[in-house]
Amino acid sequence: MPLKADIERHDTDILILGTGGAGLFAALHAQQSAPPGTKITIAVKGLIGKCGCTRMVQGGYNVALGPGDSVERHFMDTIVGGKWLPNQDMAWKLCEQAVVRVRELENEIGCFFDRESDGHLHHKAFAGQTADRTVHKGDLTGIEIINRLMEQVLSRPTEKLQEHRAIGLVPTKDGSALSGVLFVDMRTGKFRFVRAKTVMMGTGGGPTMYKYHTPSGDKTMDGLAMALRLGLPLRDMEMVQFHPTGLLAGDHTRMTGTVLEEGLRGAGGQLLNARGDRFMFDYDDRGERATRDVVSRGIYAEMRKNNDPDQVGMFISMGHLGPDNVRKKFKGMVKRCADSGFDLAAGKVEVVPTAHYFMGGVVVDPDTRTAIEGLYVAGEDAGGAHGSNRLGGNGVANSTVYGGVAGDTMGLDIRNMGALRDPDETILSAEIERAQRPFAKKAGHIQSLRHKLQEAMWEDVGVMRTQAGMERGLERISDIKAELLETGVDASNLAFNLTWHDWLNMASLTEVSEVIAKAGLVRENSRGAHFREDFPEPGDLESSYFTVAQQSGVEVSVSREQVQFTIVKPGETVLPEGEPETLVAQA
Ligand SMILES: Cc1cc2nc3c(=O)[nH]c(=O)nc-3n(C[C@H](O)[C@H](O)[C@H](O)COP(=O)(O)OP(=O)(O)OC[C@H]3O[C@@H](n4cnc5c(N)ncnc54)[C@H](O)[C@@H]3O)c2cc1C
Repeated sequence: MPLKADIERHDTDILILGTGGAGLFAALHAQQSAPPGTKITIAVKGLIGKCGCTRMVQGGYNVALGPGDSVERHFMDTIVGGKWLPNQDMAWKLCEQAVVRVRELENEIGCFFDRESDGHLHHKAFAGQTADRTVHKGDLTGIEIINRLMEQVLSRPTEKLQEHRAIGLVPTKDGSALSGVLFVDMRTGKFRFVRAKTVMMGTGGGPTMYKYHTPSGDKTMDGLAMALRLGLPLRDMEMVQFHPTGLLAGDHTRMTGTVLEEGLRGAGGQLLNARGDRFMFDYDDRGERATRDVVSRGIYAEMRKNNDPDQVGMFISMGHLGPDNVRKKFKGMVKRCADSGFDLAAGKVEVVPTAHYFMGGVVVDPDTRTAIEGLYVAGEDAGGAHGSNRLGGNGVANSTVYGGVAGDTMGLDIRNMGALRDPDETILSAEIERAQRPFAKKAGHIQSLRHKLQEAMWEDVGVMRTQAGMERGLERISDIKAELLETGVDASNLAFNLTWHDWLNMASLTEVSEVIAKAGLVRENSRGAHFREDFPEPGDLESSYFTVAQQSGVEVSVSREQVQFTIVKPGETVLPEGEPETLVAQA
């Protein structure tokens, strides 16, 4: 078993966790804004450019550059879509800065998005939006963004710690500031502690504790679990977004759960039930173009009605739009479905709601600062910008906008910071002991625990919730957690010890799952992604509250805080007088 003496210690000025849109933009902007000679280190669980969800972005990037669109319109759609829960200052900055960031992506980073024949950017229709605003590169937008960002970052003199898994945020002894981050170097299994004046956490959330899920496998809520242990406040933790159309290709394939993009419904795709009938208009007069939460519930309700173990999901059908047209417009999707035996262009594809995005996250200010000095959070790890529902296209906008903001802010703040801070050695040792815990136990079956957790979250803390269900969910999670703590890992070789990393993944997932269920119990109404069958009404918009979870010792408490309507109040709009609320997408 490694001893404390085996920790490698290492110093930097700016440390960035994760290399998705948030991490890579933070690195580029920090380099532009920090004083010359500032050392910047990027540390990531996977390989730069090959991990995380930004790479997986299919549909596109929301930016108010299309005809008839405006930052005000984008902002109103974000607030209304988030059911009045977003932090309005963050939502505004997201919409305003997306315009700057898309220009930066094209003019400085080298991305090239699809265009109209006259040379203007092409904007797709996405559900829940009153204008066509989603720019894209076919349906493989994320690959374009990450490849170009990766080229920029790799060509610069930043230090790169790849296959380094962050396992603990370690404060100073008096708890007033962050000292640095503890890692496992996955290539050797050794611990490494990196002191830094500023740390940007962009580990990308990732609700992979659900039976059907879309995010990349490296994402297991490590960042939010670390933030909880540090005692930071986390908001909107009940808000798990289900994408309505996850591919259902059977239990034997990891393709099950992967997302069939929103643009399919935006382009006119129809959802059919087991009898072949279109059903979404029974649930919402926008039909298939309703927001993700509404469509997910529609599909889930039809699944419950059908209740047939041999045919679990519903179907998406595109053939009426012309198979050649579908093949041309959705090349990647058609191929993905064909790989799993479905003909998206001319036939129908079985789909199921799939956990896609986590709106909850660390409480930050619009400049990405957190409650503790030295720690900044951006991207999917940060709560607030989306409230109860993220609009399709606002995810990658959020991570790239706020990653850049974090880089700028750290570069400025670091000018006023003194020397590196020493860690609380007791907390550092406790984090190491926590990670080594399975070494002292008898080996067990971690994969079966993961399946149990995924079933419990899908059944009891999923698309539709009740008090009884979530309480049952909490009991199931608690049993799984207890079993995990008694499950061991063979520590004879720690280099790329994937069983150990599965154990650590499960530890983060169970910690955060518990908080999702607790926050879900505290929200006694239905807003956006959180739907309570026992409290189906949204409640009074004027007195909207968001939940805040905080850990003290081993206990997590959840409270409610009033939403501040800093820009617009329910019933009002920031759109110019006389401008229609509905433009293209919902027409
Ligand atoms: C299939 C799919 C399609 C999507 N399509 C769209 C779309 O069309 N439009 C849109 O707006 N959004 C889309 N999204 C959402 C979008 O991808 C995310 O909102 C956004 O990319 C998140 O960026 P991020 O930088 O916060 O995290 P990510 O890009 O996920 O990056 C997280 C990084 O953190 C690293 N990491 C994780 N844990 C640790 C750890 N313990 N230590 C060190 N590093 C760690 C990961 O390896 C990774 O590098 C999609 C998501 C998925 C899954």
